[in-house]
Amino acid sequence: MEAYPIEVQPHWSRRIGAKSLAVSASGDYLFLEETDLLALREGRVSELPLGLQAKLKARQFTKAVTALGSESLLLSRQAARHGTLHEGPSLHIVVPTLQCAHSCQYCQVSRSLLDTGHTITKEDLLSVCESIFQSNARALTVEFQGGDPLLRFDLVKAAIIRIKELNRVHQRSIRFVIASTLHQLDKEICAFLREHHVLLSTSIDGPSSLHNRNRPVPGRDAYERTVRGIGLAREYLGFDAVSALMTTTKASLSFPEAIVDEYVNLGFEDIFLRPLSTYGFAKRNQALLGYEVIEFQQFYAKAFSRIIYWNKRGVPLREVYASIILNKILSPFDTGYVDLQSPTGAGQSVLVYNYDGYVYPSDEARMLAETGDVSLRLGKIGTPMSVLQKSVVQQALISSSLVAEMPDCHACAYQNFCAPNPIDAQAQFGRMDAPPASTEHCQRHIWLFDFFFQRIQQADPEMLDLFHAWAQPVKEARRLCDV
Ligand code: SF4
Repeated sequence: MEAYPIEVQPHWSRRIGAKSLAVSASGDYLFLEETDLLALREGRVSELPLGLQAKLKARQFTKAVTALGSESLLLSRQAARHGTLHEGPSLHIVVPTLQCAHSCQYCQVSRSLLDTGHTITKEDLLSVCESIFQSNARALTVEFQGGDPLLRFDLVKAAIIRIKELNRVHQRSIRFVIASTLHQLDKEICAFLREHHVLLSTSIDGPSSLHNRNRPVPGRDAYERTVRGIGLAREYLGFDAVSALMTTTKASLSFPEAIVDEYVNLGFEDIFLRPLSTYGFAKRNQALLGYEVIEFQQFYAKAFSRIIYWNKRGVPLREVYASIILNKILSPFDTGYVDLQSPTGAGQSVLVYNYDGYVYPSDEARMLAETGDVSLRLGKIGTPMSVLQKSVVQQALISSSLVAEMPDCHACAYQNFCAPNPIDAQAQFGRMDAPPASTEHCQRHIWLFDFFFQRIQQADPEMLDLFHAWAQPVKEARRLCDV
C-alpha cells in the first residue's frame, strides 16, 4: 500500500478520556484508538486506514525512509517552538523599591512605607538603563515591579526618561509597564504615562470583600482605591492600558464564579487564575494560606466553566493560563512563557534588576532572595550581560531545565510543551536539579495539559475556534506582572 518504506519517528503517549493522546517530536498531536497506537508503535503503519497514515505523516509521527526534507522540516518546527530564546533577554524587570502600603499575608517581598532601605540607588538605576541595551532583542519590555513602584515614581520616571534618551541611538522598540496597586495614581502621573505610552498592570483578587481581606491596608479600602485607579487609567490612558491579575488564596477557593464575574463587571477581557506562590513569605504562611494542589484544580475547573459561560453569552473573557497552555498545544509559534521553556527562559529571555544591586534570572528568584536564599543571583548590576549569561548560576539553570537531560521529562508526553522549572525546584527542595516529577510545578502542569487536552478532545467547532483564538499571544499589557 505504501509507495515508499515508512519509518516511525519518536513520539510519546498518554491516556486522555477514551482515547490515547500521541505527541510527535514536532509537538503535533493526534487522539488515537489504543489499537492504532499499538500499530504505530510496532511499525505496522501500513495496516492503518490511508487517511490516518496521511495524518501520521503530516504530523511527523512517520516519514518515508527516503524523504530528505523531513529532518529539516522537523528541525524548523522545533526551532519555531523555541524561537524567543535566541533573541536575548527581551523582558527587563526593574525593582526600584519594596515599599508598599499593603500588608498582604501572601506577599513575598513588600516592606512598609517607613522602610526606605529597600530602594535602588540612583547609580544602579542608571546602570540598568544602559544594561538593557546589551540585549540583542529588537523589542524590549521594561517592567517596573515592587513593592509598589508608584511609591517611588521619581525613580520610575528617571529611568523611563533615561532609557528613551539612550534609545535615540539604539532604536529599539520599547514598551514600558508598571505593576502597581494604582493607589498613588493621579492625573499628573497619568499625563507622564500617557506621554510615554506606559501600560499598567494591577491586582484584583475578586469582589471587594475578598480583595480587601487578601490585601489589607489601614482604611480597609484597597479594592475601592484600586478600582478608582483603574478608572483613572482608563480615562487618561485608554481602556486597554490597564490589565489585572489575581492570586488564589485559601479564602478565594470558595468564590470561583464571583471572582470571574468581578472581572466581567470591571470590563476586563483577560483573567489570570494564578495559584499561590510557594516562594518567600507566602511559603512561611503556608499553614494559614496554603492549600492542596487538588483544591486549586477544583477551583480552576469551576472558574474555567464560568469563563466559558460568559463567552457563550457573547462576553469575551480569556483565562491567561489557558492561553499559555493552548498556545503550546495549538500554535506552532511559542509565545515564550519563561517557566515552560527548555532551556529555561529565566536569565535568557528575562532579567530582573533588583533594588539590592543584584541581577536575578526571574521575578521568583528575587523573591526567593528575600527569604535568605541568594543562590540564584547572576551578578551585580553593571556586570556585562555576556558575563551574566556565562555565570555558573545561569549555566546551572540551563542544565537543570533541559528536558532531554531529565529522565522524568524525557519519558513525559508533554515534553514538547513543557520543561522543568529549576527556580521552583530550588524554592521547594533547595536544589535546581530536583527530580521534576516531585515538584509542584510539574504536577500542576501535567494536570493543566491533561485538562486542556480533555477539553480539546470534547470540543465542538465553536469551542475549538475559541481555543484557537486564546492560543494567540497574550497582549503585552496583559502579561504576567505581579503587584
Ligand atoms: S516538568 Fe513534568 S510535565 Fe513538564 S515535561 Fe517534565 S515531567 Fe513533563
